[in-house]
Amino acid sequence: MWILEIYQSKQGEGLWTGKYSIFVRTLGCALRCRYCDSPYAQQNRTENENDNEGIGANLSAEEIVGRILLLELPHVVITGGEPMQAPEIVELTRLLKDFDYQITIETAGIFDAPVLCDLMSISPKLSNSTPLKTTKSKSQSTSTSLNHEQNRFKPEVIQNLMFRYNYQLKFVVDTPNDLDEIEKYLNLFQGVVPERVFLMPQAVDVNTMTEKALWIVPFCERHGYQYCPRMQIIWYGNKRRT
Ligand code: SF4
Repeated sequence: MWILEIYQSKQGEGLWTGKYSIFVRTLGCALRCRYCDSPYAQQNRTENENDNEGIGANLSAEEIVGRILLLELPHVVITGGEPMQAPEIVELTRLLKDFDYQITIETAGIFDAPVLCDLMSISPKLSNSTPLKTTKSKSQSTSTSLNHEQNRFKPEVIQNLMFRYNYQLKFVVDTPNDLDEIEKYLNLFQGVVPERVFLMPQAVDVNTMTEKALWIVPFCERHGYQYCPRMQIIWYGNKRRT
């Protein structure tokens, strides 16, 4: 399983904000979100590929757990990239449970697998995530946008994850237009618990986050959703491994 980095920090988003955690960042993602906060984790690698580019390491579940054990915290966040696209995640979560770890999985909700976890943190990708078409290498940019648009929404996967796991739905909100789309989106699913819906401003600095909060917070209050500031930006700034 390709792993980009393993580090400890504080969970900055959602239900378990503030929890000291070990973050396992997998390498590879099927999407190319416009606002991706970890583009360095998008590159897809094949299982037997040599690490010629010095990016990440291909580790067994035992090797990953061995590194996690050194950090001595009880909560593991498996993030990416898209961790649910790696088949080995099933074995990894089973092994972590043998050691009694509490597990969060952070996913875009486009792959399903019989993992074990305590919180399935689903970040559905709205139309605001689709990369813009650029004039540079137009055909490549168009195919990236098309591929993203075709793959970003898998309602059957999201509904199944919601049924099987303790879940949260975490939306990235960029403009007021997104609020209407979120309402329509949530109406497609059964059993949505409003307190499990988190709206997070698309921002990489505190000022932008504060400005967007002015219209996101009242919307959350009206619908029983939770406003979700990206606390890692407030605590550490827009830095990697936080
Ligand atoms: S799904 Fe996540 S890792 Fe993949 S491109 Fe989107 S934001 Fe980045």
